[in-house]
Amino acid sequence: MRYIALPENIETKVFVLDSNALNETPKVLQKYFPGRKVQIVADGNTWRVAGEKVQALCRAAGLQEYAPIILPAEPKPHPDYALSQLLAEKFAGDCVPAAVGSGVINDLVKCASEIKKLRYCCVATAPSVDGYTASGGAMAVAGQKKTVPCPAPYALIADRNILKTAPRAMMAAGYADLMSKITGGADWIIADELGIEPIDKPIWSLVQDDLQDNLADPDNLEKLFLGLAATGYAMQMYHDSRPASGAEHLCSHVWEMEHLAVNGEEISHGFKVGIGVLAISQLQEFVINTSVEAARSMAKAPLSKAERIAEIAELLKKDCYGSTIAGLALNKTPFNEAMTERRKMIFNHWEPMQERIKKQLIPSNTLRKMLKNAQAPTQYEEIGLTAEQYFHGIKTAQLIRNRYTILDLLYETGLLEEAIKTLV
Ligand SMILES: [Zn+2]
Repeated sequence: MRYIALPENIETKVFVLDSNALNETPKVLQKYFPGRKVQIVADGNTWRVAGEKVQALCRAAGLQEYAPIILPAEPKPHPDYALSQLLAEKFAGDCVPAAVGSGVINDLVKCASEIKKLRYCCVATAPSVDGYTASGGAMAVAGQKKTVPCPAPYALIADRNILKTAPRAMMAAGYADLMSKITGGADWIIADELGIEPIDKPIWSLVQDDLQDNLADPDNLEKLFLGLAATGYAMQMYHDSRPASGAEHLCSHVWEMEHLAVNGEEISHGFKVGIGVLAISQLQEFVINTSVEAARSMAKAPLSKAERIAEIAELLKKDCYGSTIAGLALNKTPFNEAMTERRKMIFNHWEPMQERIKKQLIPSNTLRKMLKNAQAPTQYEEIGLTAEQYFHGIKTAQLIRNRYTILDLLYETGLLEEAIKTLV
């Protein structure tokens, strides 16, 4: 059985990735959770695909168990913190929760385990997210999307025979999420070049060294899963999602808060991120392709504080983004002398930054082909966005976090409008 080597000092202590890895589950549970009774959490689908078999294997190995918690398959369970609280209430104090499922089930159990201060085991059923090995769960808390702090799984089991039966759309979503490390990496380079957030070399390597190779073939399940898993460790080690996410994720968060759906079906994280990748890579190309002289001459005059307040209010007028964003956005905007200094600093770094972004980026038209090849959406209409919503989302993404990205660079230099005009 193939055990994957893990970095030290992360919560995840064991990771089995193999054909028939499921068979190893009882052994992993006995070794890493001695004396605990297994309590499986699945939904109707993942129970059928893997949960039932995990239960049978554990019984055959003589493990004690609590009755499994099987959430309905339809409507699909939502990553809602209230549901994690409910699960936590059902967990026995001496159990080991075993999350059998993909992103949502894993996040629900991750948060529930933290509430109950239990370590848990994840049995992954699709290569759809990088969250399996990440700390923190992406949850709706009282209607607002948040990353709830909670430890990553202590044990992770990924059975290739099960992963390969996952719906095509889930693999495509995982592929798009992995691709986001290209643009996310370029954003970190920008923050590093400007001295705002230095790159942590070992963590950078974990995500970036094999990235292009892992993206080379969208049907290579193993590379896809390993690439996503490596991103998760990087987030655990950095205690933040910076190594895994840049402006493309911020765009996806805005659209998520608008409850994007097509025919009543919610759009997966990866699909929203993929559309974000295509937009953000083009904005990064705008920087690569614009000389510092041209950038200086195109730069729009900075706004006064009153004008910025009005701009922020206009972008947030849909009122679904939470009450804290407007203050955060205003706080991070430099004004007057601070803005003049910031612009000077950015233009001083413009040329070395162009070189570094160019080295990191895959051309946006190649990224588009790669997504298409993976059967992921490549047009914003495919994920239910109108043109207005698409462009609004990109501008609003600049407001919602303190993480410095290409959007901040373009906003601060008065080039954001100009750069957005180049999007195809
Ligand atoms: Zn992601």
